[in-house]
Amino acid sequence: MLIFVLILVLALGSALWFVLMPVVRRRRRLAWARLPAPAEWGDWLRAHIPFYECIPTSLRDRLHALMQIFVREKAYVGCNGLVVTDEMRVVIAAYACLLVVNRPGVPRSHFYDELMSILVYPTAFIVHESDEQGGIVTEGHRVLSGQAWDVRRIILSWEDVQDAASDHVNVVLHEFAHYLDMEDEAMDGAPGLGSAADYEEWSSTFWEEYERLADEVDAGRETLLDPYAATEPAEFFAVATETFFHQPRELLAAHPKLYEQLTKYYRLDPASWAVSKV
Ligand SMILES: [Zn+2]
Repeated sequence: MLIFVLILVLALGSALWFVLMPVVRRRRRLAWARLPAPAEWGDWLRAHIPFYECIPTSLRDRLHALMQIFVREKAYVGCNGLVVTDEMRVVIAAYACLLVVNRPGVPRSHFYDELMSILVYPTAFIVHESDEQGGIVTEGHRVLSGQAWDVRRIILSWEDVQDAASDHVNVVLHEFAHYLDMEDEAMDGAPGLGSAADYEEWSSTFWEEYERLADEVDAGRETLLDPYAATEPAEFFAVATETFFHQPRELLAAHPKLYEQLTKYYRLDPASWAVSKV
């Protein structure tokens, strides 16, 4: 009898927690979002984000509000002896939040809700892998600058995060795009889009662009998108996201249909932002 009562109390407690948890989280997020951005954020963001000054002021204010939540809610874990500084937290948060700054529901929901931690390595890190084909297991390793391990963890190399300041390669945008892609279970280059018509439009544009890029890479031609985008559809989406923010006008000119799909998905039009002085 006592065990039965104990199980009942535990079950009721868990049910109550699942009902209350989103309410508590929502209230906490809205309170954090009202905090003013610290003065040093501006210096850090200008130093690390080449197009920061181009972002419209109202959008920048909203971005800061989301960053206030992100830096408090997510656990940053320094790896291989790295001590994570506030500057690192803020720069990573800025790029992550930029992807969802206009997303419906944010910050109440749909705001990296499953993500628990960001593991930050000082430099590129080694991942051990094993592959089984026909009963033969091959062991190996890869050196990576970032990895969206699953929806709970994202791994980044701080040295590579800093490359975004002077290059069009952006490991934070790349890995967080993978996270968004994974939200609907499959990491296949198509994030959650809503209607069947939206999926159809996305799929037809992305396949056309993906195959065109693969042909150009095979032919040895110079491409706007990094050739790594041609390795698989998920990489195409992640690399296209990097180009969308770092070279929006070039992407719009060379791949207008792809730019249009990304504009619809991110609800942002970076080609219309002020021209970068960099
Ligand atoms: Zn990738």
